[in-house]
Amino acid sequence: MEKKGLLIVISGFSGAGKGTIVKRLVDRFGYSLSVSCTTRAPRPGEVDGKDYHFKTKEEFENLIDYNGFIEYAQYVDNYYGTPRAFVEQEMAKGNNVILEIEVQGAMNIKNQYPEAVLMFVTAPSAAVLKERLVGRGSEDLKTVQKRMKQAVVESNSMSVYDYIVINDDLEACVDSIQGIIKAEASKSSHNAGFIEHIKRELMEIGKE
Ligand code: ADP
Ligand code: 5GP
Repeated sequence: MEKKGLLIVISGFSGAGKGTIVKRLVDRFGYSLSVSCTTRAPRPGEVDGKDYHFKTKEEFENLIDYNGFIEYAQYVDNYYGTPRAFVEQEMAKGNNVILEIEVQGAMNIKNQYPEAVLMFVTAPSAAVLKERLVGRGSEDLKTVQKRMKQAVVESNSMSVYDYIVINDDLEACVDSIQGIIKAEASKSSHNAGFIEHIKRELMEIGKE
């Protein structure tokens, strides 16, 4: 029984824990994670092709011209984009695909794929958010401040998301996201093919 994969969008304030959560979801449940392209510099330990495809501005703009992205956006001085081919191939195979992208990209995805599931991850409070962002130690204070300012802008889009997920206890948060994905996969609107299939089977068996 062919069933298209779900397109799962995870957004959230910088430092809310998206990267940590998505890694757990992929490791535990085997979801297909889209690796984005970006023009930002790699953080210590980040691997090209695994965490991001790191590109120059020229390379990125070239990909835009060739329709290589299903969405892209500028976020705090850099470009970020979702490569088209991987997402389309995985969904066609019936795999559930996770996009970890910011708010403008998420809105763009919702316009193109109305059935996409949009989740917004937040820390339990602004103070905890800042603590996590500073604690990660990957950005200088100026960048942390820019990202906290960006969070104010992003908070205006939270109500457009299908789900708000509070990342307080990490494992509880991962479990609740997994619960949402399971429920979405069971929606009748996502199972139109199966409904048709069993209807045909019932008609056939009724003829015997
Ligand atoms: P994002 O990808 O949203 O920017 P990260 O996944 O990098 O955020 O997490 C930011 C920091 O917060 C990291 O140091 C991470 O280890 C930590 N962190 C993530 N989730 C939690 C949590 N539930 N409790 C405490 N610290 C967390
Ligand atoms: P970071 O620099 O912390 O890795 O990512 C900054 C922001 O860019 C995060 O909110 C992250 O979700 C977002 N992002 C990562 N990849 C993409 C992408 O392909 N498209 C869009 N629109 N945002 C992305």
